[in-house]
Amino acid sequence: TQPLLQVKNLKQYFPIKGGFFGATVNHVKAVDDISFDVHEGETVSIVGESGCGKSTTGRSILRLEHPTAGEVRFQDRDMVSLTRSELRRTRKDLQIIFQDPYASINPRQTVADVLMEALDIQNIVPRAQRRERALSLLETVGLGTYQIDRYPHEFSGGQRQRIGIARALAVNPKLIICDEAVSALDVSIQAQILNLLKQLQRDFKLTYIFISHDLGVVRHISDRIIVMYLGKIVEIADKKSLFEQPQHPYTQALLSSIPTYDPKTKTERIPLRGEIPSPIDPPQGCRFHTRCPYAQELCREEEPQLLPMENLQAGHETACHFAGELPERN
Ligand code: SF4
Ligand code: MG
Repeated sequence: TQPLLQVKNLKQYFPIKGGFFGATVNHVKAVDDISFDVHEGETVSIVGESGCGKSTTGRSILRLEHPTAGEVRFQDRDMVSLTRSELRRTRKDLQIIFQDPYASINPRQTVADVLMEALDIQNIVPRAQRRERALSLLETVGLGTYQIDRYPHEFSGGQRQRIGIARALAVNPKLIICDEAVSALDVSIQAQILNLLKQLQRDFKLTYIFISHDLGVVRHISDRIIVMYLGKIVEIADKKSLFEQPQHPYTQALLSSIPTYDPKTKTERIPLRGEIPSPIDPPQGCRFHTRCPYAQELCREEEPQLLPMENLQAGHETACHFAGELPERN
């Protein structure tokens, strides 16, 4: 079947102005030629350290940023060329939840205001029924209807994230992008919110893109995982295949830093040396070579392509010259 979302050769460069005349002197290559599909009902996670381009990818899909190049097709509609009003209509199908819903909620608005505003923007529920709809949304996300007239500061972090989810759900979206949606929460609250998202996915046939710096967090919710480094996809695979047979040294390093990652099979921890290089002037060849324990001459000269791994599950792709030849690290 046709994917719900197709991202093809997406680039997102941000100009850096400088000099006396404010001319563009360089670019931050936040996302640098990535392609992937998302199927209906799937949860695809995008994982990597901060600055790898994962949030920018989410924002570009929603057209919160206009892509520098490439294609984003949602239900076979070309998102990049949508006009303002077409974009507004499409927004009801594509929603985003951020790390801190409080940051995007007006502190003087009650929960009712927040939810009814979301319904107003898309104008999908008759005015007289909006409060009723807001009440049922609260129940859907596990809050009490008695909480409808409360203000954001009266809620805990986990409850505020439930309000953020209710706001996203208000317009009956097909795809929700969760950008570090549980990162600020305690581990036990994280689990509750992830369970809620899972249940909502079943109930409303939702598709998720889950953006996180933490592979451990996305482990249970993901069907497939995309690992990004400095604007590029370095590995993409089914969750099981990625966790059991990680191929890219960067994926292996991320996995080995998860404290709870299966200690029985875990070998030594692979330290990530140094900082992520600047996305303004990424390293030549393999962008990971400055931090890779296996880097060789070829890695500094030639950029590895994202290629299927012959002996692994279909769809497992890695961008490393020596994928499959490196020591087993799972
Ligand atoms: Fe490491 Fe070379 Fe593979 Fe890049 S291509 S991940 S530097 S071994
Ligand atoms: Mg981010």
